Amino acid sequence: MLSNENKAKLNELKLFKKVPYQILNGWTDLVYELGKNIEDLCKLANVELPQIEHIKSKYSSLRFDYYFTTSFPEIVETLIDSLIYEAEDKSERICEYCGADGSIDVKEDNSLILKSCDKCSKSNNLTSDKELLQALVKSKRNKDNWYADELLELVTHIQEHAKNKVISKAEYLGMLDDVIRRANLIKDKMLEDEDLVVFNPKDFTDNCFYKQPNADKPSIKTISNIIRNYLGTMNKEDIHTLCEKFGKDRVLEELDNKYKELFEIGYFDIKGLKLPLYGDYKEHGTYKELIKILDNYNK
Ligand SMILES: [Zn+2]
Repeated sequence: MLSNENKAKLNELKLFKKVPYQILNGWTDLVYELGKNIEDLCKLANVELPQIEHIKSKYSSLRFDYYFTTSFPEIVETLIDSLIYEAEDKSERICEYCGADGSIDVKEDNSLILKSCDKCSKSNNLTSDKELLQALVKSKRNKDNWYADELLELVTHIQEHAKNKVISKAEYLGMLDDVIRRANLIKDKMLEDEDLVVFNPKDFTDNCFYKQPNADKPSIKTISNIIRNYLGTMNKEDIHTLCEKFGKDRVLEELDNKYKELFEIGYFDIKGLKLPLYGDYKEHGTYKELIKILDNYNK
């Protein structure tokens, strides 16, 4: 973890008092600069410093979370978020061991994935099997996991506060506001994600997701999930609705990917019955029929 010298450097900033650092020495300057910028910004805007929730390394990238305990202008939050975003982005190109330029992912014994330069990965004898790590990082960064992680952390945060029964009602309400704000932040981030959209069953003639709880209400889904399910219905009107919503090219792309994957697996599973698939997927009857439906969209 951090050397005492680097810890002392970071602790020079008032913002970082009492923060448990979960990073290595190589990111000291990056985090110091970020903290300094946030302090300067708060001074300029004349607002109290926020509380830092954690500064840590996660999936070989910096994670920096904070919250305000007093009221503050929204623009301050927007600016702080962009400073953090920039630093998190930079961290992905800085060796966490020594601070040099580096962008290889390495794995430590305790399964941590860290960003490293070539030299440090060799001198620390770290695993850097490229394919293995890429797969690991990819699966861990999988968006659904990412949001689930954020939510889990938020719940843990609530539990910690809930155990602390000595706080006053006013403090408790303030804490709840923070929690609601963060929950909304997670939700906003999810919606900003262009692959996640609000699915409204009323937009379609059929409801592909009728088995899910509250199926008649709008819900958040990935575009890919919606397209793939509606392609399966062969319903012309609904497939044209897909084109209208997501563009014909996006639907075609998803159709191709779906069939490529199916033919790689080698069979089509209909309620446990495995229909074998072979040859060129573009010659498959259902695929051709779907292409016909899509071709009809322009007419
Ligand atoms: Zn290094």
